[in-house]
Amino acid sequence: MIIVCSACGAKNRVPEEKLLEQPSCGQCHQGLIPLAPIELNEKNFSSFISSSDLPVFIDLWADWCGPCKMMAPHFQQVAKDYPHVVFAKINTEENPRLSAAFNVRSIPTLVLMNKTNEVARISGALRSSELKKWLDQHLNAS
Ligand SMILES: [Zn+2]
Repeated sequence: MIIVCSACGAKNRVPEEKLLEQPSCGQCHQGLIPLAPIELNEKNFSSFISSSDLPVFIDLWADWCGPCKMMAPHFQQVAKDYPHVVFAKINTEENPRLSAAFNVRSIPTLVLMNKTNEVARISGALRSSELKKWLDQHLNAS
């Protein structure tokens, strides 16, 4: 499968069975499976999302949003438990066109993407256990 390096944007072909062995980028040697959320923005979003063979779980947030900040450590924590899912954050203030494209009405909004398809979304801050439950439900369905 193709995994896009979140550090340099290079596309890496990784056999599926190697995913759990912490593969690294052929170009910049960073770990390909980030265990912490990555930043997506208007520059890298389209190429990242259309090339990544892993599902992408996006947190649309803003700096002024209290519930977003409350959820952030939970989101980061859960990322470690899902090496087959890329956790990503989009700052809605810095990326107004992306947030308009997602038709974000309230934040935080969480969106699960499989390539360019939106699999599911939910608004409002969730705790770790709720994040996992929601993810498990929609990952199994997709
Ligand atoms: Zn790289």
